[in-house]
Amino acid sequence: MLRRPLAGLAAAALGRVPSDGMPGPRPVVLSGPSGAGKSTLLKRLLQEHGSIFGFSVSHTTRDPRPGEENGKDYYFVTREVMQQDIAAGDFIEHAEFSGNLYGTSKAAVRAVQAMNRICVLDVDLQGEQRLRQRNTETEESLAKRLAAARVDMESCECKEQGLFDLIIINDDLDKAYQALEEALSEEIKKAQRTSHS
Ligand code: ADP
Ligand code: 5GP
Repeated sequence: MLRRPLAGLAAAALGRVPSDGMPGPRPVVLSGPSGAGKSTLLKRLLQEHGSIFGFSVSHTTRDPRPGEENGKDYYFVTREVMQQDIAAGDFIEHAEFSGNLYGTSKAAVRAVQAMNRICVLDVDLQGEQRLRQRNTETEESLAKRLAAARVDMESCECKEQGLFDLIIINDDLDKAYQALEEALSEEIKKAQRTSHS
């Protein structure tokens, strides 16, 4: 059903990021189904332009996967703590996904901005066959993820609604990365000019 992986820059999500108390450049939101290649693209963006962009570390209530570090890949927290913090207004967005809470805290965005970097958020639209190759999901959690993806993609009228600034089809990683870089070229040039002046 989901033949094409999809990643996009979400304009609506960008617009929703509150500007109050958050000076500096507006965060960039990379969104798409789980397994679409968002973190692969983000990793490469940070490798090549690490002084310009910074990854905001999300919170999640899911368990860490092997090799994942608290504070680096995610802040791994309990549902109770996360719900309290959400209620206290500490998050700019959050979502329930596959039985767990995920969210971006204001503090995580500010931490990136404090380093004078453009904050990049990874926010899911869920789904996709590649999860099967990742081998970190149980069949049950995989089924939940793919079911969520199907709903998302069926209801996704993203293009028509102008939800995204850009839709990138990640069927070729190099081409997808080039498209991402091109979409951010103004920001990259601006940052390069600033650092050289
Ligand atoms: P997401 O962050 O969107 O959940 P990942 O970046 O973790 O997705 O990618 C899921 C898997 O797909 C990873 O194993 C990654 O190496 C692989 N992958 C990413 N882009 C491509 C591509 N264009 N072609 C084939 N495999 C890809
Ligand atoms: P995973 O469990 O595979 O790390 O992430 C599952 C999904 O949650 C991914 O598609 C990822 O994009 C999404 N996700 C990660 N962090 C956040 C976040 O802060 N907010 C939202 N809404 N989704 C997130």
